[in-house]
Amino acid sequence: MRLAGLYAEFRGADDSRLREDLLRVPRKIPELEIQARWFAGEFGTKFKTTTGDDLEIVQFGIWNREAGPDFAEAAISLNGTAPLRGCIELDTDARDWERHGHATNPDYEAVVLHIFTQRGNASFFTRTVENRNVPQLLLDLNQLADGQPVVTPIAKPGRCLAPMRDLPRAKVGEILDAAAQFRLRKKAARLARLRDLHGNDEALYQSLAMTLGYKANKLPFTLLAQRLPLRFLLKNKDDADALLFGASGFLPANDLSRFDAQTRGYLRELWEKWWTRRAEFERFVFAPGAWRMSGLRPANHPQRRVAALAQIVKHWSKVRALSDRCDIAATRKFFTGLRDEYWDFQFTLMSEKTSKRMALIGETRVTEMLANVFFPLAILRDATLWDVYRELPATLSNKRVEIAAARLFASNPGDLLKTAARQQGLLQIYEDFCMHDDSDCARCLFPAQLAQWR
Ligand code: SF4
Repeated sequence: MRLAGLYAEFRGADDSRLREDLLRVPRKIPELEIQARWFAGEFGTKFKTTTGDDLEIVQFGIWNREAGPDFAEAAISLNGTAPLRGCIELDTDARDWERHGHATNPDYEAVVLHIFTQRGNASFFTRTVENRNVPQLLLDLNQLADGQPVVTPIAKPGRCLAPMRDLPRAKVGEILDAAAQFRLRKKAARLARLRDLHGNDEALYQSLAMTLGYKANKLPFTLLAQRLPLRFLLKNKDDADALLFGASGFLPANDLSRFDAQTRGYLRELWEKWWTRRAEFERFVFAPGAWRMSGLRPANHPQRRVAALAQIVKHWSKVRALSDRCDIAATRKFFTGLRDEYWDFQFTLMSEKTSKRMALIGETRVTEMLANVFFPLAILRDATLWDVYRELPATLSNKRVEIAAARLFASNPGDLLKTAARQQGLLQIYEDFCMHDDSDCARCLFPAQLAQWR
């Protein structure tokens, strides 16, 4: 640390002098950088709101990578009251709340704090769709000690980082495995309930549909599978794709001129099957806002996923047999080999045809299906399949797992998270501890419990 001391002497200890220098040459700080520095705690944790209330940031939460406010899972305390959990939105200008349509967007209902760095002369209230008044904080950019941008972390490492590092790797692996096993049993119990209510096939079909919707469109896919049950689609197998697309609200009623020739041909074919049936399903057709389109990888667009569900229905007897066998290699081969002459080259109905063929259901999705549906169902029949499940390889492609890894392992888990089971175990720990914590790790029991793990 000798060099640091030398540099401190070199730069001088008086921060205010440096700040004055900075103020003389003001720098326009981009919103993303302000957000990053806020998240890194550079503005501190205690403030006064615009109405003079004492405000403490109990938890900075995580960067929200999906549609909605900038930070999720945060917690604030006003005038020393119990922490209030929710989201934080940080804008450069207070009026951005209205300008960007947050006031009418239900995604912003969970905001507990609106931060901005400037405001106009007129007073401005931050109101949500349900007309809730959100506390406001005017951030003073002069509080920043220097003008250097910071690296944006996905989430802050937690208090358990050090005790996790001190444990032997084998023990950490064992804890993750234990959490994974617990999660697998929970999923199995949920599927058993679904199976008791709707039968084996419907339970499997609904669960696969939900996995296709994961995560942004889980609800519409669940509704779609409930409203168009498998037994109905199997009886109408030739029309299944048109019924699924029609009920999803993806079949435009008239004017096809905005589509290219190939898409027009594809839509006409579906439309011809759909128009005779649409009166039956009128109540079921999703409104345009039912689907989440933003923040998705193009290949995961819900239109492609509905096409994948149609393929699953088309090949149902094979899907059912694969579920009974629960063989990893055979399941992977079948799903990644599914073909759809139109959707293999399209991201959406509006996009241009791609030059390269794309898998309708990719490797990651198949791993999700195995971990969330096939193995939980199989484990109900044969508990020894756990030994097969725990070896199921997985890449780190789930944002939630990345966030949890940032918190517990400072994004450096080594080879601990190379299997789907370990990733599921991490998610379980994250949900059980991080998601319930509103003390910025201070009162979390996980670090203490680690020491007691046998
Ligand atoms: S809340 Fe608990 S488990 Fe989560 S990062 Fe903090 S100490 Fe670790």
